[in-house]
Amino acid sequence: MATFLHIDVDAFLAAVEQSINRKLKGKPVMVGGLKNERGIVYCPSYEARARGVHLGTTLAEAARKIPDGVMVKGDWFTYEQYSNRLMDIIRDFTPKMDQISPDEACLDITGLERHFASPVELAQELKNRVMEELSLSTSVGIGSSRVIAKIASEIIKPNNLTFVAPGEEKEFLAPLKVSKIPGIGRVGKRILKEMGIKTIGQLQTVPEDYLVKLFGQNGRKIAAYAVGTDGPLLRNYSIVRSVNRETGLAKDITDKTLLLGHYFYLLERACLRLREIHKKTGRMTVKFRYCDFENVEGHATISPPSWDEKVLYKIAKKMFETMYKRRKGIRFVGVHLNNLKNSVYAESFIFDRAEKNEKLLGSVDKVREKFGFLAVTTGRTLTLGNHYKKKATGYELRTPGLSK
Ligand SMILES: [Mg+2]
Repeated sequence: MATFLHIDVDAFLAAVEQSINRKLKGKPVMVGGLKNERGIVYCPSYEARARGVHLGTTLAEAARKIPDGVMVKGDWFTYEQYSNRLMDIIRDFTPKMDQISPDEACLDITGLERHFASPVELAQELKNRVMEELSLSTSVGIGSSRVIAKIASEIIKPNNLTFVAPGEEKEFLAPLKVSKIPGIGRVGKRILKEMGIKTIGQLQTVPEDYLVKLFGQNGRKIAAYAVGTDGPLLRNYSIVRSVNRETGLAKDITDKTLLLGHYFYLLERACLRLREIHKKTGRMTVKFRYCDFENVEGHATISPPSWDEKVLYKIAKKMFETMYKRRKGIRFVGVHLNNLKNSVYAESFIFDRAEKNEKLLGSVDKVREKFGFLAVTTGRTLTLGNHYKKKATGYELRTPGLSK
């Protein structure tokens, strides 16, 4: 019998702030920006949630609702370090783990009962270690499938430990709302609601073929999830499917050089991530938002796949120059890399120049690991130095996007 454990940090970004600064413990902390800035709260602490601030609440509204709250811009690079330490602790328990987001992972703990009296004991020890070493509270679910473990981890929050015994999956799921099933979005929920289906128990009575008619191949996955199995489509899903780096701008910007500097910096960060996870991207999206909220985006196929910011930047620059047509300021820029391929080193053996370049990238990464990201500053991003505070970990952008 397989056993999976899903672990998720409670209010991760806010909790990291409280972990670094003990004075913030028990206080309503809101990560996203300062009260006089525009933007939204990315992560409210539970104390802030209790007072009506949620993910997506505008900063202005959050400041109004909790005038004595602690608003912080957030520092993605610190969060990334915490995320890495969290994953290291998890890997101590088993290498059979998939990182699902910066603060979330699913572990295959089948067979680990040799080392622990029970899965619950293992979970408790994992929770304790994360609390002792990182001062972060976690929610954990255990079950016979990934989907059961995930749903169990979410059922009560924060600081939860839920174990669904084998054989009890269907009954466990039956009273829950269909929205608890991963992959049922707003549209799916609406379709089911129109059919009068609100709970997973009701969904369990719908024939699979009918769900396929409604949702296409996703219908099979939904049918499997409804009874608590992972289904055919979810086996060995890969961990990181895309890398996203984006930022809102404190002021609307029209200066093309400065905007391109942002793109280069975002691509540097994104490619560093790609190299860390040994993936190359096969598709790039370049996006921006005008000050009047018109969104523009373009896509490019990257062939052969690459993790080299210089290669991607050349393409992004061309795309941006053709897309930026209006003489209006820009308030948000971002890049999204997906269609990730495991890196094929063979390529670099065939092409000498490519190999040299990869070595160079590798050594830059190492210097940065030792001395901080800005130990190596590239010409194109120098212009950002006049606009952002420099930290050892990088430029302090306004709202660094999270990696998915
Ligand atoms: Mg979380």
